[in-house]
Amino acid sequence: MSEIILVPRDKSGLQVSTRYADVAGQVNLKAWYRHYDLQCGCIPEGVMMHIRHRQDTDLFYLADNPTSERHSESCDLHTVRATVSSEELQLLKPVVEFHPYKERNRSERNSSTNHSVSKRPIMSGLEKLFATLITNSFTNYQFGRYQNLPDFMNKVINSEKNKAIGTPWGKTLTELCYYGPKGLEYAQSAVKRLDQTHNQIPASLWFNYAPAGTTHTGTSVTVREQQFTATKVQVPHKASGPFLMVCTISKQQSDNQFRDILLVPIVSKDYIFAVHSDIEREILQAFLPKLFRMNSHAEFTYYLNKPAWPVIDNGAVYWPNWLLHRKSKSDRKKSFKVISDDNVDVLADIYGVEVIHMSSLLAAGEVTW
Ligand SMILES: [Zn+2]
Repeated sequence: MSEIILVPRDKSGLQVSTRYADVAGQVNLKAWYRHYDLQCGCIPEGVMMHIRHRQDTDLFYLADNPTSERHSESCDLHTVRATVSSEELQLLKPVVEFHPYKERNRSERNSSTNHSVSKRPIMSGLEKLFATLITNSFTNYQFGRYQNLPDFMNKVINSEKNKAIGTPWGKTLTELCYYGPKGLEYAQSAVKRLDQTHNQIPASLWFNYAPAGTTHTGTSVTVREQQFTATKVQVPHKASGPFLMVCTISKQQSDNQFRDILLVPIVSKDYIFAVHSDIEREILQAFLPKLFRMNSHAEFTYYLNKPAWPVIDNGAVYWPNWLLHRKSKSDRKKSFKVISDDNVDVLADIYGVEVIHMSSLLAAGEVTW
C-alpha cells in the first residue's frame, strides 16, 4: 500500500503521512476539506489530490489534481481520476484510426443535468492527437514570446515524448509530421512509401498556417483562394481564423484530398497558440505583449497555459480559459491561478486555487498575486 501524505494548504503546518483506510472515511475527509491536499506515493513524483464536496449528497471525496501525473496502475486510487486525459494513450496506438465523436451520446446525457456545461465537450481522435502533441512539447504554454509555425513545429517534432510515439508502419509519428507550403509535397510522398499493415491505412500529418479570412465548409477549406478538400473538416471551437490547420493525409486519398482537417483557432501568425473563441484571441493579443514585459522584471517568471484537455468532474465538463503560473526566480517556488469567465466556484474547488475573471488580465497595471 502506498503512503499518503497530508499537505497543509497554508504551508504552515507539518506534512504528515496517513493510512489508506483514513482517507476513505467521511469524518477525516470533512475535517481536512479545504485545509489539506493529499499526495499519493504510488509513483516517485507523487500524485497530488484534493478533497471535493458533493452538495447534493453531502459526501466528501478525493479527486486528482488535473495537473498531476496519474496513479500507478496497481494503486488503489487508480480509478479515482476522472479526466479525459486517460484516453490519450489509447488513441495513439492506431494513430490514424480516428473515431470522431464516439463519446458524444454518453457525454451529452451527463451534461444535460448541468446547464453551465459546454455544449461540445467531446474531443475527436484528431483533436486528442493534437492535444497530446502540444502537451508533450509544452507548446500550450506561453511566456509572451513570439512563436511562429517553424518554432512551434520544431518543439512538437523534437519533443522526446512525441518522438517516442510509434505508428503501425515502422516510422515514428514525428517522422510523419510535415509543415508549411513545401511540407505538403513531402507529406504526400512520405505516405506513398508506407506499406499497409494489419488493415491500418498509412497516413501522415501536415500542419499549415491559415490566416484570417480562411473559410470552411464540412468538406473543404479555402486558404487565400487555394482550396483543400477533406472527408471531414473539424472546427471544434466557435471562432474565426487565423487557424492552425492539422491535416491527415491517407494513402487512399488522391493528391489534393485529405482524410481529416482540424482547424485550431490561434492567436496570430506570430503566436501559434490555441484559443477557443474570438474573445480569447482578443484578450491574448493585448495580454501576451504585456506578459513579455512582466517577464522582464527580476523577481518572477509568469507563463500562461491553455489546458489542452478539459476536466471532467461528476460527469460535467469544465474547460477553464487559462492557468496563469508564476515562478520565483530566487527560490523557484511555483503557484498558479485559474482564469475563467464561468464556473468560478467549481473550478476553485477542482484546482484548489483562486479563480480570477478573464477580463482582469487586461486590467490596468500588473496582475495582482
Ligand atoms: Zn496512487
